[in-house]
Amino acid sequence: MVKRKFTLIELLVVIAIIAILASLLLPALSRAKDMGKKIACLGNERQIGLAFLMYAQDTSGEFLPPMAYRNGVTPVARTWYTNLLICGGYIPPSAWADENSGDIKTGIWQCPSVTKFNWGGGYGAVELLSPFQSDWGICYYPNDPLPMPSLNRVKRPSAMGMLSDAKREANTYWGDNPDQSWIGLWCSQCKDWGDPSVNQASRRHSGGSNIIFVDGHGEFWKYTDIRANNMNIFGHNGEW
Ligand SMILES: [Zn+2]
Ligand SMILES: [Zn+2]
Repeated sequence: MVKRKFTLIELLVVIAIIAILASLLLPALSRAKDMGKKIACLGNERQIGLAFLMYAQDTSGEFLPPMAYRNGVTPVARTWYTNLLICGGYIPPSAWADENSGDIKTGIWQCPSVTKFNWGGGYGAVELLSPFQSDWGICYYPNDPLPMPSLNRVKRPSAMGMLSDAKREANTYWGDNPDQSWIGLWCSQCKDWGDPSVNQASRRHSGGSNIIFVDGHGEFWKYTDIRANNMNIFGHNGEW
């Protein structure tokens, strides 16, 4: 029996084959990992969305005000729906990251695919910026505790957006980052999403965002579809 060793060429061929197999496999593994994050993110959003609806149930149908005047909670800096849902007991306090600043970056508040955290963990509520200027969004953002938009007004609960992966690409304080987290989401027809300082949906999950609608169900949408305001998910022009 002749003993035979690998020649250098054979060894190189074997190494090359392994490298090719790895290069085929690694993107698939990476995609699987991204898919896992996307699903985990949707789970987070479902829980937050449920808290939104539980809050509404306790307040005769009101959506969340950004400032935590309700339920006897004193507002703190950057107070937003995050603080309100935690202080109101709708989401466990273990998710509380920074009580003073109101920045929530842990637990279900954190999208697993966010790379840079500022003002929250990457989830934005569809915002109503001014009841006098336009009539879209569900969360109102003034300093005064004016009457909140009501769940009872929503005629299209399965089409009206409530919460989404959100980002702001640029701002004056923290510099640019395509996945910079944010806590609000502005109507793409009222605001120019080409402006990187606008709070908008994210591309971080396969080029899109998870969205929770007012009826509590969740869907993945491509960024371009969200930006096109398909189904009028922002309730633009008061079409709720
Ligand atoms: Zn996400
Ligand atoms: Zn609009």
